[in-house]
Amino acid sequence: MYDRFNREINYLRISVTDRCNLRCTYCMPPEGVPPLKHDDILSFDEILEVVKLVVPMGLSKIRITGGEPLVRKGIVELVAMIAQVPGIRDLGMTTNAILLDRFAEPLKSAGLHRVNVSVDTTDPQKYASITRGGDINQVFAGIEKAKQVGLRPIKLNCVIEKSHDEPDAQLVKQFGRDNGLQVRFIHMMDMETGYFRPVEGGQGGICESCNRLRLTSDGYIKPCLFSPKAYSVRDMGPAEALALALENKPKRGGQNPQGSFYNIGG
Ligand code: SAM
Ligand code: SF4
Repeated sequence: MYDRFNREINYLRISVTDRCNLRCTYCMPPEGVPPLKHDDILSFDEILEVVKLVVPMGLSKIRITGGEPLVRKGIVELVAMIAQVPGIRDLGMTTNAILLDRFAEPLKSAGLHRVNVSVDTTDPQKYASITRGGDINQVFAGIEKAKQVGLRPIKLNCVIEKSHDEPDAQLVKQFGRDNGLQVRFIHMMDMETGYFRPVEGGQGGICESCNRLRLTSDGYIKPCLFSPKAYSVRDMGPAEALALALENKPKRGGQNPQGSFYNIGG
């Protein structure tokens, strides 16, 4: 599937919840956010309907994200439903890994291929401070379990303020080296002002070669993280929402004043 700027669109990121068990300083306010109503969140069947529509059209790379995807009730069942759709060549999940120790094995059995783990430092105190209370040892245990069960390759997402030379980023780099894991540095972004930079070691943030669409937990297909454009699969049906998102994918990102990472999924 190509957009009007001749970019091949082959990647759908699905946010399955707006809720999270952490409160990262750059993502959520300390008190959290008022959660979406249960009825506003897409059901598993509604998500599956979108996946079944887009995969045969060439969006064969699917990533489950959130909020924290592992806090969505029945996440293993959802992954199993998605994994059974024929034609998916890459099925990944982005997680903070707090619950991964418990979920890695069932997720692997359900058909998940791999995980990206978000971790910005390996220093326990600093991790607790960035995430407002997270325990880094749970992340280490989750990564270890993911390795054991073969959710490969495991990539680490490390948000940096200015540079990958920052001490915390260097700690993550060393941890990656010691454990044979690839590290991607993500510059801290701001949707309100439109500040974004290419992901170092990844593909995100380069408008010219952007290959993705996003499905939010409340059922909007979004053509760009840095645009308020959004098309409701409930109001217009998945096919129409998809067609409009493709047609209106901007040449480059601008600003998205109402946007939030925990709802759109990063
Ligand atoms: N909770 C999961 C996690 O943290 O991996 C998945 C959702 S989270 C919103 C997805 C990614 O967005 C994470 O890698 C996170 O670091 C990143 N993210 C959140 N807020 C960001 C910001 N302001 N700038 C850059 N990346 C951000
Ligand atoms: Fe939660 Fe992920 Fe946002 Fe951190 S970045 S608050 S783990 S959704």
